[in-house]
Amino acid sequence: MLDGADLIALESRFGADNYKPLDVVLASGKGVWVTDIDGKRYLDCLSAYSAVNQGHCHPRILAALTEQAARLTLTSRAFRNDQLGLFYEELAALTNSHKVLPMNSGAEAVETAIKAVRKWGYEIKGVPEGAAEIIVCADNFHGRTLAIVSFSTDPEARGGFGPFVPGFKVIPFGDAAALEAAITPNTVAFLVEPIQGEAGVVIPPAGYLARVREICSATGVMLILDEIQTGLGRTGKMLAEEHDGVEADVTLVGKALGGGFYPVSAVLSNTDVLGTLKPGQHGSTFGGNPLACAVARAALRVLVEERLVERSAEMGAYFKAGLESIRSNRVREIRGRGLMLAVEIHAEAGAARPVVEALRDQGILAKDTHGQTIRLSPPLVISRDEIDWALERIETVLR
Ligand SMILES: *Cc1c(COP(=O)(O)O)cnc(C)c1O
Repeated sequence: MLDGADLIALESRFGADNYKPLDVVLASGKGVWVTDIDGKRYLDCLSAYSAVNQGHCHPRILAALTEQAARLTLTSRAFRNDQLGLFYEELAALTNSHKVLPMNSGAEAVETAIKAVRKWGYEIKGVPEGAAEIIVCADNFHGRTLAIVSFSTDPEARGGFGPFVPGFKVIPFGDAAALEAAITPNTVAFLVEPIQGEAGVVIPPAGYLARVREICSATGVMLILDEIQTGLGRTGKMLAEEHDGVEADVTLVGKALGGGFYPVSAVLSNTDVLGTLKPGQHGSTFGGNPLACAVARAALRVLVEERLVERSAEMGAYFKAGLESIRSNRVREIRGRGLMLAVEIHAEAGAARPVVEALRDQGILAKDTHGQTIRLSPPLVISRDEIDWALERIETVLR
């Protein structure tokens, strides 16, 4: 029998080194809990970057997966399947959108949106060929493809990968005046996260998204909200845009859309943006396959029927209040919305990584970001008792 150290050694020997995971080798999961190969249980406070909002191995999503897997899994979009139309209808109803384009990973949804708004710019807005500009924010995270890292401001994400894709302009996050100043007649879209996740749960000033919405509407610029992490209940609303009472022209969802079982992403649009794509101009072999659609339909049903969006708001407020009540001079700030939370450690109190390692030893799995920040985003099925359990241990580690 291979033990944890053996399996880690295999990973190091054969795997590319593009991750530095905590040395915990997980073998099973249920709800908010995961268990390592030695049988030690941990409370998952990362949820695979919000891809398991519904909790690990949710029985209803599992049932949908196995039922569909035994029936039909992949047809390609050369033919139709009996799940795709229903997936479209249900996702559109929940997100108040008119058109849906299914992809697999989040990065593919972002790429799709970039292609679609550029095409919209040339064909509808009348931007001269090759001149389309897309405005993005500093410290963004939208994925790892070449076009996406072309407009990243993180040297780790970009370094060594050039030459880059042109046509992007970077402005500060949370600064509506900067957006106004950056827009030109060739600007086709503004791509932004409602709350910057990978940057460390950075919440923009109140009124930012509403102002951004006004500016985009007034200048004929498509507002693309990347809700791949903030969407599907994570922040206490189905989409984070609802906190600000705005509607994006293009919304990107992924991660929890697959319920933690299967990669499913989608571009949602309530304008003619997706209408510019004609047969043969974009696609994906796996996008919209019946297994993905059946899993996503079940993942959405679980969010709604188990009232996980409301639960995220309620449990998030409870968790945040609990974190705020911890007396520790190592804590600089607690921030977050719904169950998208972060604890920032004072620079003088050391880095976040050792805190995350101490949390692991206490049975909590969390992720450090940018040196000083610990993200806490458990599955939305977390209970009050489980939050109390976590708070006790977080307090022990922080004090
Ligand atoms: C995770 C994430 C992505 C990329 O999704 P992948 O499935 O990893 O390609 C894009 N945008 C945001 C905001 C994300 O959090």
